[in-house]
Amino acid sequence: MMSAPGPPLSTFHIRTFGCQMNEHDSEHIAGVLASAGYTPCGEAEAADILIFNTCCVRQGAEDRVWSNLAAIGAKDGSARVVAVCGCMARKHGVEVLRRTGAVRLVFGPESVERLPGLIETCLAKRTSDLGDIEDDRIDRLPALRRSASAAWVPVSHGCDNDCAYCVVPSVRGRQRSRPFREILAEVTGLARDGVIEVTLLGQNVNTYGSDIEGEAGFARLLGCVADVPGIRRVKFETSHPGDMGDDILQAMASHPALCEYLHLPVQSGSDRVLDAMGRGYGKEFIIELAARARQLVPGVTLSTDLIVGFPGETESDFEQTLEVLRTVEFDSAYTFIYSPREGTAAYGIPDDVPAERKKERLTRLVRLQNEITRAALGKVVGSDVEVLVEGPGRKPDQVIGRTRGHQVVVLAGGGIPPGTLVRAAVTGSGAHSVRATVREVLYRREVS
Ligand code: SAH
Ligand code: SF4
Repeated sequence: MMSAPGPPLSTFHIRTFGCQMNEHDSEHIAGVLASAGYTPCGEAEAADILIFNTCCVRQGAEDRVWSNLAAIGAKDGSARVVAVCGCMARKHGVEVLRRTGAVRLVFGPESVERLPGLIETCLAKRTSDLGDIEDDRIDRLPALRRSASAAWVPVSHGCDNDCAYCVVPSVRGRQRSRPFREILAEVTGLARDGVIEVTLLGQNVNTYGSDIEGEAGFARLLGCVADVPGIRRVKFETSHPGDMGDDILQAMASHPALCEYLHLPVQSGSDRVLDAMGRGYGKEFIIELAARARQLVPGVTLSTDLIVGFPGETESDFEQTLEVLRTVEFDSAYTFIYSPREGTAAYGIPDDVPAERKKERLTRLVRLQNEITRAALGKVVGSDVEVLVEGPGRKPDQVIGRTRGHQVVVLAGGGIPPGTLVRAAVTGSGAHSVRATVREVLYRREVS
């Protein structure tokens, strides 16, 4: 094999787009590269190897990557190896190499194990290695995690639903649950290393185990993870409302380590649109489920995802969505404009809501949700919350963390190390966060 001229490659930088599953895949990519002797580099421009871990759930996410790649191609002195992985690599494959001059390597999550060798190979010849879509050995590779106290742990990969708008099943495959024991062993190992919070990840965690004969379901998994000694907080995403059983809500209510936080993407409040989306539930179901969650899990914080402008969405459909928001009062929402994705069922339906109308609906949706979020945060003022510190705030005398309900907290007083768990008194609230002061340190990481 020919090797490229110049000093050996030594540093890498990963830019991650999209969901937490991608963020976590990036931790494994970093872990494999670090084990092979490469060093992480904070600045993309200074790194020898620049990796784009990409998302294709909406066109906007793809466009950002394409324009980044084009900008690199136009610049001198950029990284010697530019690589693309993640969902765009899966979707476009070798086409990524054809469309961009800068990219030398395209790889899938299944090829991460081979990455050091692929980097060598691509120096001599532009390379594509996507592997098998349903091979999940990435879970067992080393990881360089974002935090020493909080960790993501996948419980399943892929998705068995066929939501009409969604490209995930075609780029991530059908659902594959990880063996129960493997997940528990990973969480136990993390706890031994000082991790106190885990977030269990899956496209639809509620159906965990349904693809393995005799495997326990998600509620039982939650209980076992919550019982791992040392684990103080367990969160999970994403829950499909249609598969959300009361057993999960009951588990949340009965295990102290299970956080009072539920991300329930409802997508729309119109029965007609929900039906066209293939979501398998309607408006009344959403309202009842949210009420049941609040009743069974006192103090639960609810968040959601919403799409505006799905094909055929009328003004009256959209108003149904606003009505659901007013009724349920989700604590927060991620809001999206419908983006047609090739290969999905909805791609064949004319994208008939004009762009201006989509934007206008998004603005109204965001305005309403902002009011609801602000009011919900206002209600926390005067109470005590448990906060896991994540890092520095905007000002030197502040740090940022999250409550058990996943709300962002700006804590007065700098210098509290990330990974510290505190009880804090909430003194004020804003549009997207609350302000608090520390009352008591509950857990502090030992510095070794
Ligand atoms: N498995 C998760 C996440 C899927 S992608 C779930 O089912 O909730 C995250 C969010 O992106 C979705 O909840 C949806 O709101 C949004 N989304 C997915 N496909 C989209 C599309 N084609 N256009 C706009 N938003 C989309
Ligand atoms: Fe996509 Fe629906 Fe699966 Fe979520 S549940 S990943 S939206 S197909």
